[in-house]
Formats: sequence, structure tokens, C-alpha cells
Amino acid sequence: MTEKTLNLDTRLHDYLLDILPPESDVEARLRRRTAEYAAPQMRIGLEQARFMRVLARAMAARRVLEIGTFTGYSALAMAQALPPDGRLVTLDHDPESTAEARGFWEQAGVADRIELRLGDAAESLQALMDEHRAGTFDLAFIDADKERYHHYYECALELIRPGGVIAVDNVLWSGAVADPEDTRASTEALRAFNRRLRDDARVDVSVIPIGDGVTLATRLS
Ligand code: SAH
Ligand code: CA
Repeated sequence: MTEKTLNLDTRLHDYLLDILPPESDVEARLRRRTAEYAAPQMRIGLEQARFMRVLARAMAARRVLEIGTFTGYSALAMAQALPPDGRLVTLDHDPESTAEARGFWEQAGVADRIELRLGDAAESLQALMDEHRAGTFDLAFIDADKERYHHYYECALELIRPGGVIAVDNVLWSGAVADPEDTRASTEALRAFNRRLRDDARVDVSVIPIGDGVTLATRLS
């Protein structure tokens, strides 16, 4: 036994996938289509998709906000957990990958629960604020450009209700955050973001080393 989180080798990872509820046909097709993109690794993995789905279900989430849609795999995972009158608002500025996303949501029968807003995420977040949506979301998932995570987080914190949860993706950045030699802007931004969250008295924080690392922050009041 170890206190350290296991680094999964391929055999154990295969086993982990084997004991999860399997991918639906639509999820598998979406995964294969996304593999044809230039950066398919931006899509969350199956183990994280199941994590997000259980999180949304356990919270009985009815309003979900996503920042960073891409081809729609993470949105599909969370939308599956919503009741018929639940809604997921997802933000992205890329018309191409998100057009594809819509098609898969339709095939999965969740398109009526997902509202895609195209445009710069910061502007879309301001629009939600202007529409008096502050305090109305149960769950938010931040997964767009890393340099602006802090801004997205501040907006998400206003948009979720007290007791709501913000999940933040890629916080371990393939290990780069722990490598002092790595001074890329994205790495420095994530390091600064991670430290600020640790010291943020408005939330309680956990970091789950699933996928590329996911921070969960729950709003205290
Ligand atoms: N959550 C998705 C992956 C998102 S990848 C999944 O797991 O499948 C990150 C996305 O953020 C990309 O689609 C990119 O177009 C989007 N993005 C990056 N910068 C953005 C910005 N300033 N405004 C809106 N979207 C942005
Ligand atoms: Ca991601």
C-alpha cells in the first residue's frame, strides 16, 4: 500500500475502464471522431466522464455551466445526469468542433438539455451575469484556455450557488506544474491558479488526480 496516488500502468488502466459503466455507442463514436482532431487529448477520458456524471447526479444538479466545449464529450457526460428539465450551458469560441458536438448530442437524445453559446468565454460569462444568472448554477466545469483560468473561476464562483461545485480540469498539467524547469505561460498560470485556490477562504478544495488532475472547489457561502 502507498499513500501516493498510483500511476496507472496500461494493464491497470485497462482494468479500471473494464469495471466502469461502458461507453454508449454515441460516446464511442464521438471519441473516435475526436481522435481525428489535431489535439484529441483535450477531450476528457472515460474515467473522468464517469466521475463528472456521478458528481452531477450526486449533487442532483439541474443547472450546469461548462467553459470549453470542444467536440462535446464532457458536456455529453454531464448532460446524461440531468433530469429532463435540467440545462447545461456550454461556452466555446470554435464553431467547427462545436458544430460536430451538436450532432452527437442529438444522437444521444440530450440536445434539448444543452445550450451552446459560441464566442469568447469571458464575454459569454459576462452575458450570463448580465442575464442575472448569478447564484443559479449547481456545477461548473472549467476547461478552456489555461492562462485565463483565474478569470473563469471568479466568474464561475459568482454564477454557482452556495454549496455548488466548480470542477477545474488539467490542474496537474501532465506533471509540468511540479517541474521547476517548465516555465511555459500555461504552466505558470496553472501553478499560480492552484496556489490561489489553496488559499481561497471562500471555498473548500480537493484535487483529484484523475485524468490530467481535477480540482473540486465547493462554494462555502
Ligand atoms: N471539455 C472538453 C474539452 C475542451 S478543450 C472535453 O473534455 O471534451 C478546450 C476548448 O476551449 C477548445 O474547444 C477551445 O476552442 C476552447 N477555448 C479556448 N479558449 C477559449 C476562449 N477564449 N473562449 C472560448 N473558448 C475557448
Ligand atoms: Ca481538459
